[in-house]
Amino acid sequence: MSKPQPPSTSNFIKQVIEADLASGKHKRLVTRFPPEPNGYLHFGHAKSIVLNFGLAQEYGGRCNLRFDDTNPEKEEQAYVDSIEDMVRWLGYDYGKALYASDYFDFMFRCAEHLAQQGLAYVDSQSAEQMQHKRGSFTEPGTDSPYRSRSPGENLALLREMRDKKHPDGTHVLRAKIDMASPNINLRDPVLYRIKHAAHHRTGDKWCIYPMYTYAHPIEDALEGITHSLCTLEFEDQRPFYDWLLGKLADGGLLKRPLPQQIEFARLNLTHVVLSKRRLIELVEKGHVDGWDDPRLPTLAGARRRGYTPEGFRRFAERIGISKANQVIDFSVLEDAMREHLNEVAPRRMAVLDPVKLVIENYPAGIEETVEVPNHPQKPQMGKRSVPFSGELWIEREDFQETPPKGYFRLYPGNEVRLRYGYVVKCIGYDKATDTVRCTYLQDSRSGTPGADKYKVKGNIHWVSAKHAHAAGVHLYDRLFADLQSDGLNPGSKKSIGAKLEPCLQQARSGDPLQFERHGYFVADRDGFNRTVTLRDSWAKA
Ligand code: ATP
Ligand code: MG
Repeated sequence: MSKPQPPSTSNFIKQVIEADLASGKHKRLVTRFPPEPNGYLHFGHAKSIVLNFGLAQEYGGRCNLRFDDTNPEKEEQAYVDSIEDMVRWLGYDYGKALYASDYFDFMFRCAEHLAQQGLAYVDSQSAEQMQHKRGSFTEPGTDSPYRSRSPGENLALLREMRDKKHPDGTHVLRAKIDMASPNINLRDPVLYRIKHAAHHRTGDKWCIYPMYTYAHPIEDALEGITHSLCTLEFEDQRPFYDWLLGKLADGGLLKRPLPQQIEFARLNLTHVVLSKRRLIELVEKGHVDGWDDPRLPTLAGARRRGYTPEGFRRFAERIGISKANQVIDFSVLEDAMREHLNEVAPRRMAVLDPVKLVIENYPAGIEETVEVPNHPQKPQMGKRSVPFSGELWIEREDFQETPPKGYFRLYPGNEVRLRYGYVVKCIGYDKATDTVRCTYLQDSRSGTPGADKYKVKGNIHWVSAKHAHAAGVHLYDRLFADLQSDGLNPGSKKSIGAKLEPCLQQARSGDPLQFERHGYFVADRDGFNRTVTLRDSWAKA
C-alpha cells in the first residue's frame, strides 16, 4: 500500500561510501549506532539511527547497535533496555546488541602494547597538575616529569593499576604524542584512569576504565566498521582516532583497512532541548510524567505521542546531512509526521467540547446507521457504520446563539449538514438544559437520491449521544515557554472529556487516527493523545 520511496538524495557521506565500495577498499558497508547507556534516546538520536541503519540498508551492508558502556558509574540496565526497544520501534534489526565492555581485555592488551612501544606512559601527576600543564589554544603544553619513564617501568605500573594496587586518581595512562601540538587533543591524551567502581556488566573485574576517546576507535576497528559517523564536536578528535588505530595496526593488533571517521552536524530543533542530561533533569524534578511523557522529545515520548517511525525517516531524509550546525524548525518534524499520518490514519468523528443537539421531529425510539468512509482519498480503506439518532453531541463552537458576521454553522434559523447524515435547521437554544434545538429534513440524508438539492454552507461533525464513547483526550502544546531560562509552559498539557464515535472504544494503543477537523490522535493508556494538529500551530507563535 505504501508508495515506493523516491530515490534518496545524495550527500557527502554517501559519496565517500560509494567511492570506497567502487575502489574495492571495502566490500561491504558496516556502520554503527553507539549510544552511551546513560539516558533515554531523543529525536537527535533518531537522526543518527536513521542515518546509520538507513545507509546500511541502502548499500546492502550492516549496522551494529553498540553500547558505549565505558563509564562504570552512570550506566543502567533500564537505559539499555529502553534504547534497544526504541531502535526496534524505529524499524531496525541489529541482530544482537554489542557492548564496548566486551572488549575491555583487548583494549588493555592494546594499552600494554603502546606502553611497550614507548607510545604511552603512566603519569602520576595530580589532575590539577596535568590540567595546568596542558597549555591553551595559544600556548603549548609542557611535558610531565613522568613522560620519560622507561617502557618497562610503564608496563609494570600499568599492570599494577589493573591489579588494584593503586587508589583512584594516583595514576593515569597517557598516549605519548606531542605536548606542543596545536591540536590540544593530541597533547598526550589520557587513555586509562583508575576508578574503583563496579560496572553494570563486568562487575568488579576492573578498577581501571578506558577513556571514551581511546575506546571508541578500538571498538569501531574490532567490529570492522568501515565508516564511523559522528557529530561535529568529534572533528578535533579525528587525528587521535587515526593516530591510535594506525599505531595499533602497525603493531599487528588491528587489521587494515581501518575505519574512517566522518562528522556530520547534530540535529538541533527549535523549541526543544536535545540533551540527555537536561531531559533526565526534567524527569527527576517531576516536571513531566516520566521519560515517556508525550511532551518530551524522547523517542519513548514520541511513540506515546503518536509520532511514527516512518515520519522520523521522512524527516531525516528531508533535512539531509550537513557539515554545518543549524537549527531546524520544529514544524518540519511535525509536517513529516502529518504527511505520513494523513496517508495511514483512518478518519473518525470526535467531539472534544460537547454540547447537546436534539432533533425535535426525529421519531422517538428510532436510530439509524450511516456509512462513513474511513479515508476520503482511499476507498480501499473501506467504510464503517456509525449510529445516528435524535440526540447528538456536537462541538460547542459549531453553535452560536448570536452569530458573528460570516458565521455559517448553527444558529437560530440556519441550516447545516451533519456530516454523512441529514441537514438540520436550528430552531433555538434551551439555556436550562444547554441544548441546541433543531429539526431535520427527512429527505436530506447523505447518499440518498435528491439529498444534494440542499445547499448548505456548514458541514459539522457529531456523535450520537446514546452511543458515544466517553474518553479522556490530551492536547499538548510546547513544553518550554522559554528555552533559555528553562521556563516551562504551564499549559503544555490539557486533558478534556470528549465524546467519541463508538468504534473508538476498540482503538488499540498505538493506532494512529484522524479526528476530523481536530488533528491526528493516538490511543494511549488513559484515552487519546493528540499527536499533531491538522495545520501548523507552532509557526507564528
Ligand atoms: P547528549 O548530547 O544528548 O547527551 P550524546 O551525544 O552524549 O547525547 P550518545 O549516547 O553518546 O549521546 O549518542 C549516541 C549517538 O547519537 C552518537 O553517535 C551521537 O553522535 C548521536 N547523537 C546524539 N545527539 C545527536 C543529535 N542531536 N543529532 C544527531 N546525532 C546525535
Ligand atoms: Mg555522549
